[in-house]
Amino acid sequence: MPIFEYRCKDCGHRFEKLVFGSQSLEVRCEKCGSQHVEKMISAFATSASQSDSVAGMGNSSCSSGGSGFS
Ligand SMILES: [Zn+2]
Repeated sequence: MPIFEYRCKDCGHRFEKLVFGSQSLEVRCEKCGSQHVEKMISAFATSASQSDSVAGMGNSSCSSGGSGFS
């Protein structure tokens, strides 16, 4: 289910909303009802997984890079 975060340009209210297809064109501010809302990029999932994989790769390559040990 696509959940997008929006921010109202009129009152600054931020809210999350389930959006199905063309429904994104009808998103209104929950607080003031304004249609002047902008979609925010919710990057909490992607950024977390990316940094996690990068750190894991760095660790594995570093430990396995001990070729001088053998
Ligand atoms: Zn608003």
